[in-house]
Amino acid sequence: MKKVVKFGGSSLASAEQFKKVGRIIRKDESRRYVIPSAPGKRTPDDTKVTDMLYSCYSLASMGDEYEEEFEAQLAAIRDRYDAIISGLGLSVCLDDEFKAIRTNFTGKTGRDYAASRGEYLNGILLAAYLGFEFIDAAEVICFDENGNFDGDKTNQILSSRLADAENAVIPGFYGAMPDGKIRTFSRGGSDITGSIAAKAVQADMYENWTDVSGFLIADPRVVKNPKAIDVITYRELRELSYMGATVLHEDAIFPVRKEGIPINIRNTNSPEDKGTLIVEGTCRKPRFVITGIAGKKDFASITVEKAMMNSEVGFCKQVLEVFEENGISIEHMPSGIDTMTIFVHQDEFEEKEQKVIAGIHRRVEPDFLELESDLALIAVVGRGMRATRGTSGRIFSALAHANVNVKMIDQGSSELNIIIGVRNHDFDAAINAIYDIFVNTMI
Ligand code: ASP
Repeated sequence: MKKVVKFGGSSLASAEQFKKVGRIIRKDESRRYVIPSAPGKRTPDDTKVTDMLYSCYSLASMGDEYEEEFEAQLAAIRDRYDAIISGLGLSVCLDDEFKAIRTNFTGKTGRDYAASRGEYLNGILLAAYLGFEFIDAAEVICFDENGNFDGDKTNQILSSRLADAENAVIPGFYGAMPDGKIRTFSRGGSDITGSIAAKAVQADMYENWTDVSGFLIADPRVVKNPKAIDVITYRELRELSYMGATVLHEDAIFPVRKEGIPINIRNTNSPEDKGTLIVEGTCRKPRFVITGIAGKKDFASITVEKAMMNSEVGFCKQVLEVFEENGISIEHMPSGIDTMTIFVHQDEFEEKEQKVIAGIHRRVEPDFLELESDLALIAVVGRGMRATRGTSGRIFSALAHANVNVKMIDQGSSELNIIIGVRNHDFDAAINAIYDIFVNTMI
């Protein structure tokens, strides 16, 4: 059994957190390859080391005038690591590392290089603490000359490098281009490194340790104490994260998904919790009919009505072209016989509204155009819905009981999700009503 384990910033924010991580890794010897993030927040108003590095680098680029601020910020970053070193009683000294960092920052080596030092230094400390080999991600995570991640090359290099290592720590978030220049993934990208490493070693499991016990059925800011999701498929996760549920970087799914490697989201602060298992497919019956509910607010809708539009070839295309020409992306598009409705992000749409209306009039001469704003979309997602009759019926009666007026409904043809449009101000009530009927009443 081989596991790749990734620890997020809050799991490695202090010596105390390092100790928890150490206990988790030592408890299971299959946890052989470890991907750390940079130290994150220790308290809610703390600053992540990655953000400190970005601002330190901007100070360095602003020239001599800001030298004092630059030095102070660099010292504050160093303090974060020194506190971990002394808290763990390590005999690591970062003098040379910080000398190189100062030279490279003032020599304008690049923002990506700057940000990557957070993971790099944390990797050195974690490897020393665990007694694992340290492998610099710059040697094994490859980007091409245009800065795009090179999956094939990386897989080749990384898998042969890790075949020789019994245990290793590989910092997350960055790699290097062919000329050696450091390049990072987008924010939160250590999740991606973990996934790439899991693929390279053909791991049995990719454990992603964070500060929550997995995905929750609904957003805890909306529903009080929502239950956690035990098992979720990649497709369900995609639907939910599109609607705003975030725990894992979206790009972290692709490398492992293709290999059928499951991801287990776990909580460093509560390691006994099983967390959420993300799998390609499962015949395990879900605990509830729905797997999760997520949603987003602030949409506008444009309803185009024209008698007999269904028989007019290319009608939809013409309408959609107007949005394309104005650079507005379409979020959702339910349609009726003589109507089609287009949901767009309100802020994106507002400034171009009149141009879009004029464009639609010119192109398709509609009988009627109606605009609405302050709408929210809610996705109810679940592989269990396919096998259960009456799911939408239950949703609607729950919403009716909660006095929520449903503006739109759309069931994806995969039967994996039902999207419901409501007014912004009904958003919380609607999610709570759906959660209640599918979860609370089933316990
Ligand atoms: N440290 C980086 C960030 O804050 C990457 C990561 O944590 O995954 O975005």
